[in-house]
Amino acid sequence: MPSGATLPWKMDVRSCDVLVIGGGPAGSTAGHLLARAGHDTVVVEREDFPRFHIGESLLPANVALIERLGVRDEIERLGGVPKFGARITSARGEPPIRIRFSDGLPPSPPRALQVVRATFDDILLRAAARAGAEVRERCEAERTERDGESWITHVKDDAGRTSTIRARYLVDASGRDTFLARARRSKEMARGHRRVAAYAHFRGVPRADGEESGDIQLAVREDGWLWVIPLACGSTSVGLVVQSEALRSAGRTPEESLEHAIAHTPALRDLLAEAERISPTHVTSNYSYHCGPLAREGAVQVGDAIAFLDPVFSTGVWLAMQGGASAADALDACLARPERAAGLLESWSRQQAERNAYYWRLIEAFYRPEFLDVLLQPSQAPFLRSLVPAMTSVFAGLGPGPVRLRARLRLFEFILEMHRRFEIRPRLALGSVFDA
Ligand SMILES: Cc1cc2nc3c(=O)[nH]c(=O)nc-3n(C[C@H](O)[C@H](O)[C@H](O)COP(=O)(O)OP(=O)(O)OC[C@H]3O[C@@H](n4cnc5c(N)ncnc54)[C@H](O)[C@@H]3O)c2cc1C
Repeated sequence: MPSGATLPWKMDVRSCDVLVIGGGPAGSTAGHLLARAGHDTVVVEREDFPRFHIGESLLPANVALIERLGVRDEIERLGGVPKFGARITSARGEPPIRIRFSDGLPPSPPRALQVVRATFDDILLRAAARAGAEVRERCEAERTERDGESWITHVKDDAGRTSTIRARYLVDASGRDTFLARARRSKEMARGHRRVAAYAHFRGVPRADGEESGDIQLAVREDGWLWVIPLACGSTSVGLVVQSEALRSAGRTPEESLEHAIAHTPALRDLLAEAERISPTHVTSNYSYHCGPLAREGAVQVGDAIAFLDPVFSTGVWLAMQGGASAADALDACLARPERAAGLLESWSRQQAERNAYYWRLIEAFYRPEFLDVLLQPSQAPFLRSLVPAMTSVFAGLGPGPVRLRARLRLFEFILEMHRRFEIRPRLALGSVFDA
């Protein structure tokens, strides 16, 4: 990405304060808040919305952001299913433990939402346009280069027409495409987290009554896990996450793998006995990665363009929207006080990196067998019992949060280590999803 690019004379150039690349939750949130703050903002999105996207289970912490964008009513009216908690079980069928967000300490908002992402993302993008952002769909950012104090980005629409956007600041919200990191070769894959997901929508999956009807269910095995997410209009998202080698070596198609895993998971077999698959089975590689630096020369990365964390705790959309909102706030301050921009973006980067690292630790802990031994078999010991409300807050998206929450996560990790060495809870001998 050379600096000092020169533009051909009379080239069609649109100048703006901020260019946002990508109109997913991260980009829409950033574009919306920047436009609302009065900055000339352009959002380019390659696809034609609404478009399919995986990532349907939100966290309570999302709700405040949706309210800030003024779209909560619209999302609920168009089919957000209220989610008050999560049920987690081992695949063998032990009684599930239920996490209820309202039991968190500190308390979190009591409920989140399960959403069809095509609708959810479309609502967010339209709201950004209503707030004043210029939204260009079917428009792909092809490359960008630094020119003095600006970023010059070359974009192409679906008719093949190219144009140029000059922006003081650039927000890379291109998701797993990692637009900037790919150009800078700064994407680092996380070793040991080479997983793949196979998922589909089903009809006819029975739901619990009352408050539990919108719970996400996770059925966990030592080399993988399955999700069940109730969606609007009676459909249910079901997905399998396993190490990619396991999927390959089993020699099944993704569709067969999903069916096989359901059939050999007692916790879900009966639940899905009468269900009918109503969508193709999609496959997405879940490889976790991290891209740095988060902010350089007025270009910031948000959402999956920073990092992809394994989706087991449904943190993706929350981190994307939180990142988009906080980047918008930081850039708003930079545009108002350019002389302070470097310091503002440095402190923003630090906070984002810390938040991602916090959830990364939690995900690493989850994939240790001790995690479920402790979580699925809560002890009566007051010392251990007191950790559950703190972990509930973490699952609700409140982390890293106050110091005492961080301390509880450390304590939880310490207990996992003690259990690994001294077996303080009975061991759950979890089998493989593929061994049956
Ligand atoms: C299997 C799986 C399950 C998941 N489950 C959950 C879950 O239950 N809950 C949860 O919160 N998260 C989940 N996630 C994660 C979640 O989907 C993502 O974290 C979230 O979508 C990130 O939002 P984003 O805005 O950063 O990126 P995206 O939503 O991917 O949006 C990026 C947008 O940028 C556009 N784009 C890309 N390149 C360009 C370009 N060059 N020019 C213009 N536009 C471009 C794309 O078309 C896309 O619309 C899951 C992920 C996977 C893989």
